[in-house]
Amino acid sequence: MENKSAWEKYKAKDLKELDRVSEGYKEFLDSCKTERECVKKTIEMAEAAGYKDLDKVLAKRAPKEGDKLYTVCMGKTLALFRIGSEDLENGMNILGAHIDSPRLDVKQNPLYESDGFAYLDTHYYGGIKKYQWITQPMAIHGTVAKKDGSTVDVCVGEDPADPVFCFTDLLIHLSAERQQKKASEVITGEGLDLLIGNMPLAKTKLAKGEKEAVKANILAFLKDKYGMEEADLLSAELEIVPAGKARDCGFDRSMVLAYGQDDRVCAYTSVLAMLEENAKIGKTACCLIVDKEEIGSVGATGMTSFFFENTVAKLMTALGKDSFAATRRCLANSSMLSSDVSAGYDPLYAEAYDKRNAAFISCGVAFNKFTGARGKSGSNDANAEYVEKVRRIMDDEDVSFQF
Ligand code: MN
Repeated sequence: MENKSAWEKYKAKDLKELDRVSEGYKEFLDSCKTERECVKKTIEMAEAAGYKDLDKVLAKRAPKEGDKLYTVCMGKTLALFRIGSEDLENGMNILGAHIDSPRLDVKQNPLYESDGFAYLDTHYYGGIKKYQWITQPMAIHGTVAKKDGSTVDVCVGEDPADPVFCFTDLLIHLSAERQQKKASEVITGEGLDLLIGNMPLAKTKLAKGEKEAVKANILAFLKDKYGMEEADLLSAELEIVPAGKARDCGFDRSMVLAYGQDDRVCAYTSVLAMLEENAKIGKTACCLIVDKEEIGSVGATGMTSFFFENTVAKLMTALGKDSFAATRRCLANSSMLSSDVSAGYDPLYAEAYDKRNAAFISCGVAFNKFTGARGKSGSNDANAEYVEKVRRIMDDEDVSFQF
């Protein structure tokens, strides 16, 4: 099979380089479990590579060849630019990937006590198989915007000294009836409430008439640790994700087992490609890592917002090309690799794949000419000529790839 020879070629070529990228990737996964954390970490990496805040640079002067710039949308979406020698109207070469991952979001009125247990009510985000989330150690990551105008970042469950949380399951001996249910029904979205406590607040500390001592104890902890009130949860973004670090998988350490690889595998590699490439370029290079892909690229920080267009318009204005048309010309002349994970062939679920058109793990980057369902519904079908250009670049540089 052609795929196998590609892997042989790659193995022979540079295992050290593969290790370097993989170790950095696992670190990225460990410190970036939310879109905000990804943006924060990427800014650190970008600044270390000489990238500057786009707005600060443009406040002083026009962008010029060789400039390395970054700009952020609400802490959740980020664009990197490396300005080339060509007119920006000639377009850019763009890499894009998403940094949001499926998870459980905490609802706005989440905290309740039931029969001596304290819970957080959740709303799932993105496509999840609900049954995968129960009986696993969970962490809470996020940001609370308090009424005094300050914000506080929360991350509990990642440090080995931290507690973790969990979604409970019913013991096997009481499950005869539940075991008959379909996988999509046995654990429901509304059923996923996170267990966060069981200890009542001391009677001496309990407000008069307070009946929910376990909930009161949790609130006392939140007040003490984060200076927050229950009402501050109204303006909080707390994401529940699997706790723990990325691990090598297999005796041969050939794979990575971790939460959030969709699509941080493309985000990390795109960012790395952007930051490490320093050759002289004609067309401006751009890398976008974006939020909200998992729920349809909607909202102020998703790709259907005007953040990217507005940023390009900002660059055009700074270049003295203050027109709608210049921005549209730049976008129309641009090329993009819109990255995301592809399904990797799994022999244990062979029936789900078209083997001759499936991607194989460790056989190189997978390109999807088109996506979509049924009659390519919802697809973005890349032009044959564009696909040929991409193929040629990969072949010329002797890089393994597959379709
Ligand atoms: Mn994805």
